[in-house]
Amino acid sequence: MKQFRTESKKLLDLMANSIYTNRDIFLRELVSNASDAIDKLSFMSLTDTSAKLDDEDLEIRLAYDEDARTITISDNGIGMTEAELEENLGTIAHSGSEEFKKTNAEAQGGEVDIIGQFGVGFYSSFMVAKQVRVVSRAFGSEDTFVWESDGAEGYTITKADEPRATHGTDVIITLRDEPEAPEDGEEADQGFDKYLSEWGLRDLVTRYSNYVRHPIRMMVTKSRALPKPEDAGDDYQTEYEDYEELETLNSMTPIWRKRKQDVEQKDYDEFYKSTFHDWDDPARTIPFHVEGTLDFYSLLFVPGRAPFDLYSKDYEKGLALYSSNVMIMEKCADLLPDYYNFVRGVVDSPDVSLNISRETLQQSRQLRAMARSIERQITRNLQDMRDNDREEYEKFFENFGRGLKFGIYNSYGAKADPLADLMLFWSARDEKMVTFAEYVAAMPEKQEVIYYVAGDSRDRLAKMPIVKTVLDKGFDVLLCTQDVDEFTFQAMRTYHAAAVAGDSENKGRDARDYELKNVTSGDLDLATDEEKEAAEKATTEHEGLFSALAGKLGDKVEKVVAAANPTDAPARITTEGPVSLEMERVLAQGPEGMEAPHSRRILELNAGHPVFDKLVAAQEAGDDEKLALYASLLYDQALLVEGLSVDDPVAFAQNVCSLM
Ligand code: ADP
Repeated sequence: MKQFRTESKKLLDLMANSIYTNRDIFLRELVSNASDAIDKLSFMSLTDTSAKLDDEDLEIRLAYDEDARTITISDNGIGMTEAELEENLGTIAHSGSEEFKKTNAEAQGGEVDIIGQFGVGFYSSFMVAKQVRVVSRAFGSEDTFVWESDGAEGYTITKADEPRATHGTDVIITLRDEPEAPEDGEEADQGFDKYLSEWGLRDLVTRYSNYVRHPIRMMVTKSRALPKPEDAGDDYQTEYEDYEELETLNSMTPIWRKRKQDVEQKDYDEFYKSTFHDWDDPARTIPFHVEGTLDFYSLLFVPGRAPFDLYSKDYEKGLALYSSNVMIMEKCADLLPDYYNFVRGVVDSPDVSLNISRETLQQSRQLRAMARSIERQITRNLQDMRDNDREEYEKFFENFGRGLKFGIYNSYGAKADPLADLMLFWSARDEKMVTFAEYVAAMPEKQEVIYYVAGDSRDRLAKMPIVKTVLDKGFDVLLCTQDVDEFTFQAMRTYHAAAVAGDSENKGRDARDYELKNVTSGDLDLATDEEKEAAEKATTEHEGLFSALAGKLGDKVEKVVAAANPTDAPARITTEGPVSLEMERVLAQGPEGMEAPHSRRILELNAGHPVFDKLVAAQEAGDDEKLALYASLLYDQALLVEGLSVDDPVAFAQNVCSLM
């Protein structure tokens, strides 16, 4: 017997002891696998002419045996070779395995979360099975192999004596025994037995697999009236007989071709979950049909949460592409812009040729037009969610906002319309997420720019003296905590606010661009005339002091000046030029060996602060050593306030001590 890998064992353990109440979905998972296997085969036959297939014959079969307590799910799809059985069923086959290992190491998510997150597929059969047998014959192979396991320690793979009649796979699961009902009847039955019935399986199929493209067939028992015998008297009672018939249990009509009003949301949800292997309902369902020069059906979904690998390089975006019901590409990347890469769904167009190859897809004008139309639909739906279901939208943005921001950044701001209006940022004043438009609408009339500050923690940013100063002036500050934020802002440079019509309450606004301004930049123009005057006066009066301090700090700063926008802190660091302190911090985390660009720093001193008097005194007393100490201390503590680390912590500590 071969042993399961550790991570598989853990997962199987979770399955076997699952408190997850919705065991029913095991069938959906196995049927989806069967359907995928058939798709793989028909897809192969598109390109491989040796694989002659009759589409009519492709099917999934269900059967059950009450005495043996087995359910069999069969398909005549692509099948698996011995090596594939080993690789696909012996380990957690899907790309989630590495991630599962990591998460499981921490295992805080709760089991349902883990099950959901990794879409456990085949292994979910062990929620209901005490034994699983997989009999498979790969397409083009003469041999049949049997994989068998009780889902505990390991599995065996053997060659079958009798080959399977055709290519394909049978998954035969032996259901667990129903536990003895306790005398007092307290404990609810586990419900395994219902799977051993026609209605039970029919119910699962219609609930979870109704829109699977391939027929799911089962032998069912029906009853019919016997013909009335010729010699029957007047009091003849109709007699019936049972007969067996192969019935297709699923509706098969592609759900995306149905009219929206004819489909219930729960059907869309089930379709989404079974097709895209997600555990959660989608956050948004977008069915639409385009007619005219372009002709296609589309059904798109915004997932309820981000797949674990969304931001990794393994993530593949794309929509399933069908031509008149036949899938021609599982993930057509060209149909989605990168910033909407999280969208899942199906596009079905009679105009796309079945034999279209990758290259021609990329060059297809039609496909590009479809992609544009799809993008517009997604944008419109996100806008609608933002305006009409804010709570849901905030959840969405938490999941996928980062990708939207990258969209602006990667396009050098060209995609700011429409993406900028989909952004949400934390308002320091209102303590909630706001859009740019909401920020602008709440601006006092004299405010000319949009203020923001970027850093790693919202708490720390909110406490920064300059943030308080800006808020005190009556201006809100957006607190940005994602690495990409400031890069996005730099790519945008301005936010284009649409005109707002006036009403009886307000005068409205003309359309105009607002500069996005980091409050840590040196040319923040906030001071009153008196404050400016005071700063100028201090600058001329203490010119000697400033240049002496700049000399002490050397190339750490461009210059030392009197703060024009005083805060309650004795000193702060601002920057000039394109690189802010936050960008420097983010870039410094880049690949090792990469020289991160440096910000051009200015040390601003608050001439109204008692500490400033100390500096003046030291300067007047000609105490050079003290001046150097003060300069270095003020610089370092200003760095700390900005959320940066000091260059030389040991020197900083020594300086503090010598001061004491
Ligand atoms: P997933 O379907 O998410 O990849 P599963 O654990 O359900 O993960 O299945 C693992 C793999 O086993 C599949 O990716 C597929 O390659 C293979 N497999 C499962 N069931 C079948 C089947 N009925 N026919 C052919 N291959 C199958």
